[in-house]
Amino acid sequence: MKIKKILVANRGEIACRIIRTAQDLEIETVAVFSEADRFSLHLGMADECVPIGPAPSSESYLKIENIIETAEFTDCDAIHPGYGFLAENAKFAAACEKAGIIFIGPSSKAIQTMGSKSRAKSIMEKAGVPVVPGYHGSNQDAKFLKKEADKIGYPLLIKAIAGGGGKGMRLVKSPAEFADALKGAQREGKASFNNPVVLLEKYIDTPRHIEVQVFGDTKGNVIHLYERDCSIQRRHQKIIEEAPAPGMTEKLRARLTGAAVAAAKAIGYVNAGTVEFIVDARGGLTDETNFYFMEMNTRLQVEHPVTELVTGLDLVELQILVAEGKALPVKQKDISLLGHAIEGRLYAEDPENNFLPQTGKLHWFQIPGESDTFRFDTGYAPEDEISVFYDPMIAKMICWGEDRDDAIERFLEVVSTSQIAGVRTNLPFLGAVCRAGAFRAGELSTHFIEENQDELKTGFDIPGRDIVLSATLGYISERKFERGQTRKGNDIFSPWMTGGWRLNHAYAETMKMALGDHHFAFEARPIGETGIWNFVFENNKIVSGYLDESHFPAALTCLNSEAGSVEYALFTYFHENSIYVMAGGNTAEVILEDAAHVGEAEAEGLGFIKAPMPGKILEVLAKNGGMVEKGDALVIMEAMKMEYTLKAPRAGKVKGLSAKVGDQVGDAALLLEIEEN
Ligand code: ADP
Ligand code: ADP
Ligand code: MG
Repeated sequence: MKIKKILVANRGEIACRIIRTAQDLEIETVAVFSEADRFSLHLGMADECVPIGPAPSSESYLKIENIIETAEFTDCDAIHPGYGFLAENAKFAAACEKAGIIFIGPSSKAIQTMGSKSRAKSIMEKAGVPVVPGYHGSNQDAKFLKKEADKIGYPLLIKAIAGGGGKGMRLVKSPAEFADALKGAQREGKASFNNPVVLLEKYIDTPRHIEVQVFGDTKGNVIHLYERDCSIQRRHQKIIEEAPAPGMTEKLRARLTGAAVAAAKAIGYVNAGTVEFIVDARGGLTDETNFYFMEMNTRLQVEHPVTELVTGLDLVELQILVAEGKALPVKQKDISLLGHAIEGRLYAEDPENNFLPQTGKLHWFQIPGESDTFRFDTGYAPEDEISVFYDPMIAKMICWGEDRDDAIERFLEVVSTSQIAGVRTNLPFLGAVCRAGAFRAGELSTHFIEENQDELKTGFDIPGRDIVLSATLGYISERKFERGQTRKGNDIFSPWMTGGWRLNHAYAETMKMALGDHHFAFEARPIGETGIWNFVFENNKIVSGYLDESHFPAALTCLNSEAGSVEYALFTYFHENSIYVMAGGNTAEVILEDAAHVGEAEAEGLGFIKAPMPGKILEVLAKNGGMVEKGDALVIMEAMKMEYTLKAPRAGKVKGLSAKVGDQVGDAALLLEIEEN
């Protein structure tokens, strides 16, 4: 049956990506959106848009009845779930089946079967696919599980059988840690997937995550589209993916893809799926390397574009054809690998602070144009807000090269010519990973980030003072530009005016600026009409500088001090009290301080524990009046799909604790204080 109209039950980049292919196929689309997404990019692309509820996904994107009703009401004959949200929800697929709407994905039965990591492992074992040794039975008694754990040996992993996205998983390094870790995994499993059941797995030492894209159709054909390496992860979540896997041998590839196809065949799998393997990669990949089935993702994967770039196939198109009941239009022997592709997931998060998710507006968002070698999948436009309600992924940057080195070069070029201001992102971190020696050498493992920390520092290697002065020059130039635009005639004393004679040496403006924890105070004095400024610091040290704007919008900051002269190619963007300085993928935020900020700084004492972002309180470990040691866990909260433990920054006595389990707290809400004794 030919699909004529698709409801896209998702948001962000994946909604846009699906609509793009639907348009190519001349299929109409209906976008749905929550109250938080009223101005989102995917709405502008669809033929129709329907609101489906308030911002929290549980009241909108996850509301099965609302989505089915919307599809019926708008006469859609199919629904594409994207990834996340309802994509792996067997009930949703069943509801579509029941309503006579085509679910573009596998059958509800396949989703259900693979949705449980333990059931999937049993099936794979029977089909002769190697699985990680461990316990995946139904006995959930804590004492029993501990005994099984002791048998498996440490380190081991506890996984919520319904888990996903790295959630509900705990690494246990020694028997003593087992009990707490078990509770944590069960709690996350229950909270996020409504299922506290866990399995135990031997922890593979130097693991690589290599997955195989598979596709089945209703005619019984099952093919694979080669492998992807997704070993670069933080918090067990992928951030860089590539295809093919570096160092892959032909024999190992044949074994992996063979096992993946066998896995899909074992359950009569139809549509796109991914079989994830954990590969024991000590000493690199060889023909004999051991690998184990980890799980099967019964949906389109976030990182599917790397496969598209090396195979030339459109996976969403294949999904639609298969959903229409057609045979796969390609045979295994016709699918070849061409070149190499790398994807970096651009997240609103702070790589210098444990990858803590960030919220805020994308005031400035400039990315190089797409080309044959660069694809940019996003759901955000400048001035859009990264809200607390959804995953903080902003976009995917995907680069193609003739070989891996070529793809890495292209990726680095994209990172260093991209500029983002307003919300902190992992952009420079993605660049740092690709620059790291071990990455270039293809020495990957899921521990890559911990093991290469020293090479993965982000931020400018320019002295803070020079960043601040560059920001000041950018700010002056912008103000001059703005004044020029509005031509306020009464502003006669403004030195920013271009009308020369008003500038006299007596003019000086006191600047107070902050960069992180560092505060800078100085006077800015123009030198006549030269465009050169003297910055006079307290100790009477003078730095002079000017902005060479001939390369607008980027500018060259030239600074002269007793230490000599320096030049920086930087881009500045000014918004409210912030001046963002950008270059090479890095962004520094310089704050224009006024009197109001000073008082605030004093209240930032060490003992004040504030919510680092808006979120929900999952557990309160501290007690009013109780004593804590530095590093003790105080409160566990959840925000933006991440669990975050707030720890005591110093020893002392807890007071003013008001947070309760289940409370929703705002950004920077004061949760408790620790009084030094
Ligand atoms: P993929 O396996 O497709 O590369 P991930 O493993 O990062 O993607 O995430 C799996 C799915 O779970 C995605 O559909 C994503 O939207 C969603 N997801 C990502 N992070 C989390 C999380 N921390 N908790 C729950 N779901 C998540
Ligand atoms: P999720 O459903 O959350 O994606 P997975 O079972 O796919 O959970 O595991 C996520 C990641 O955790 C893997 O990509 C890998 O980095 C790590 N991991 C999973 N199982 C093991 C294991 N047995 N040994 C070592 N690392 C593992
Ligand atoms: Mg996984």
